[in-house]
Amino acid sequence: MSPLPAQCPRRLRRPLTAAAAILALAVSLLASLLVAAPASGAGATAAGCRVDYTANQWTGGYTAQIRVTNLGPALNGWRLTWTYGGDQHVTSAWNATVTQTGHAVTATGTDWNSALPSGAAAEFGLQGTWQSAAPAPTDFSLNGVSCSDDGTVPPTTPPGTPDPTQPPAGCGGAALCSDFEDQTGTSPSGGWRFTAPDCQGTGTAAVDTAVAHSGTRSLRVDGRAGYCNHAFVAATADLSSVGPVMYVRLWVRHTTALPSAHVTFVSMPDTAQGGRALRVGGQNGALQWNRESDDATLPAQSPAGVALSRPLPTGSWQCLRFAVDTSKPGLDTWLGAEQVPGLHADGVPTQDVDQQWLARTTPPRPTALRLGWESYGTGDDTLWFDDVAVGSAPIGC
Ligand code: CA
Repeated sequence: MSPLPAQCPRRLRRPLTAAAAILALAVSLLASLLVAAPASGAGATAAGCRVDYTANQWTGGYTAQIRVTNLGPALNGWRLTWTYGGDQHVTSAWNATVTQTGHAVTATGTDWNSALPSGAAAEFGLQGTWQSAAPAPTDFSLNGVSCSDDGTVPPTTPPGTPDPTQPPAGCGGAALCSDFEDQTGTSPSGGWRFTAPDCQGTGTAAVDTAVAHSGTRSLRVDGRAGYCNHAFVAATADLSSVGPVMYVRLWVRHTTALPSAHVTFVSMPDTAQGGRALRVGGQNGALQWNRESDDATLPAQSPAGVALSRPLPTGSWQCLRFAVDTSKPGLDTWLGAEQVPGLHADGVPTQDVDQQWLARTTPPRPTALRLGWESYGTGDDTLWFDDVAVGSAPIGC
């Protein structure tokens, strides 16, 4: 770990006489007391920090999004330490330099987030592996000061309280806002219709009353492997004027982990590609964007790029959100509360992430939304979609 800028330079030492040594010792003790007093006093009246550690875990691996709020004086350089109780091993990190020795982990702010004014927060993320257990750590310290020094439990948000950092979940004013509760039969109707772009095989899509995120109805897709099994349900809403940033929020639940082969489960006709699709799906086991016209992917499908994306967990409802900028390069993706670092494109090419994606400078202009399944080889999956919204303002989970 490199020394922090706030640390004192080393003092030069010289030989001392006995009297001078005693005097120096006395001064040194007094100085220690003077330094220690305000530190313990501050710790006794207010906690020095608050840490929100949000983990997303699967067999053998995990990611964690960590938000540290400085409740003490301003820090010019921060260092957050904690101890893992399980056998977690950090393999990569973003927005912080993270090192691990045994169970002890140290995260240090990077050039652009090292200053932490009083009351401010820094966010960073990490990815790692585990074998037997991966409990969330609780013993955080910020620059050596325990985050629970005042003996209080860190504040937690009561269930059901809206998170002020997240956009509202309602979508009343959005161009598309559907919970599928208005569907009356098994065939999609009203604002939705079945479609099999390019070619149709044995994949099917229907309104389902057995599994739902809200109410009693959702959209079920039985996706089949093989090139021509396209099965989608398209919203009839014209989305061509939604923007300049098009926000999409959907809840999806699926059954089989994303395969290593390329698959698509959200497909948007894109006039910037002459009507070809802007796609969201998976490859190499993780979520990815794909552009049909030039087959560009986001992230790049290198091991480092794939590691910056996320698997789509199976067997539970997942909130997936996109922000597609139709006026300039800009694409963001959130899985739950986490912005996925590998599914982010901006105006600056980043190796392993959006270098290939930015080879085309014309921003996308999606005009419609299709939910379903399209495989290009292997990969069966059963998926449900519910509470789908598209609008010109952010829509939360
Ligand atoms: Ca529903």
